[in-house]
Amino acid sequence: MKICRFDNDRLGLVSGDELRDVSAVLAALPAVRWPLPPGDLLISNLDKLTAKLEALAETAPAKRLCNVTLRSPVANPGKIIGAPINYTSHIAESKAQDGIISPRKISHISDWGLFLKATSSLVGAGDGVALRFLDARNDHEVELAVIIGRQCTGISSAEALDHVAGYAIGLDMTTRGTELQSFRKSADSYAVLGPWLVTADEISDPDNLDLRISVNGELRQNSNTRELVYGVRKLIEYASERYTLLPGDIIMTGTPDGVGPVEPGDIMIAEIEKIGTIEVAVRAA
Ligand code: MN
Repeated sequence: MKICRFDNDRLGLVSGDELRDVSAVLAALPAVRWPLPPGDLLISNLDKLTAKLEALAETAPAKRLCNVTLRSPVANPGKIIGAPINYTSHIAESKAQDGIISPRKISHISDWGLFLKATSSLVGAGDGVALRFLDARNDHEVELAVIIGRQCTGISSAEALDHVAGYAIGLDMTTRGTELQSFRKSADSYAVLGPWLVTADEISDPDNLDLRISVNGELRQNSNTRELVYGVRKLIEYASERYTLLPGDIIMTGTPDGVGPVEPGDIMIAEIEKIGTIEVAVRAA
């Protein structure tokens, strides 16, 4: 299933260039009150809603995707985890552009660990990226995003994929500079997720997916997730050694070479095999 959030928190099932409005299923979510349960409420309950979603989609009204505004398919992630220098090709370009891509000595992901992006930075395709700090370089980073489906901690890479709800395209937008990653990569709208969530059953091996991004029609990044230093399974293991992973947590798995600046007015089009294509407009904040 391809599950999207659109317009004012409507829920859709995507098929081709249409969606079916299945928002009625949201009435089946458990009633909650403060303090809210940890994790995203929809992702926590997705397994229980699957049959209902599919049944609803058969008779639900159809809408053309071009007539809706796509939001982030995860509404309330507990955290957005980033993976630095996780493609060999990106390590090479980071070394070549000494000090520009990262102020730190480039080594291995195991030396750097992971970083967190503020959840307030999260937007969907239709929201677009609103650039700040226009005197600095603001880069696109296209990444496979993993959405955790079940709470877990200390899990092995062998069992990691059992805890995944699905996948999406992630854009880890980045202001270059000397500050820490969590600061430079957390401005409002600097985490794009979408265009929808593809459930895990549709992607048997997340470590073999083509991914690319173009800006104004010019191809910038073009790789395959098999080039990841820590593949998806290993990344989940690595993250779960440190954090309890919750339903709706997002792991942006890292970016290949070809990162580069965007400016207001640019159009980014990113594509990941078996997920789809996301179009994101760039403007000034
Ligand atoms: Mn990144």
